[in-house]
Amino acid sequence: MMMEKYRNLHIKLTPQRLAILSYLNGNTSHPSAEDIYKAVQGQFPTMSFATVYNTLEALKNKGSVQELKIDHAKKRYDPDSTIHHHLICNKCKNIIDIHKDFNLSLPDEMTEGFDVLGNSIEFYGICSKCNK
Ligand code: ZN
Ligand code: MN
Repeated sequence: MMMEKYRNLHIKLTPQRLAILSYLNGNTSHPSAEDIYKAVQGQFPTMSFATVYNTLEALKNKGSVQELKIDHAKKRYDPDSTIHHHLICNKCKNIIDIHKDFNLSLPDEMTEGFDVLGNSIEFYGICSKCNK
């Protein structure tokens, strides 16, 4: 259940925060803070943008939300904290998930003794809607 998942985060759960969490839960659209603000504002007209932003920061610090920098114009947020990759449309900035393991090995001479634990790949292109 969503509530249990977020109760374990030990962040203060105000009604506004719960609305933000329920908007994010299972959301695969990779919304920006502004998108989230617009979506939840109808329910809480007096809610400030800072509340949205601070909630996102708290969730990010708990590892419950990923902050994506693939859209250079604005930070995008992803409640799916599992390891996956992203593909963004250069025109409309739609971001989709890429769930695939890429077994990319780096030559030892490049890694300076690092133990490489994983990768996160940003793909970009033009989506089918923008290609029409
Ligand atoms: Zn597009
Ligand atoms: Mn994602």
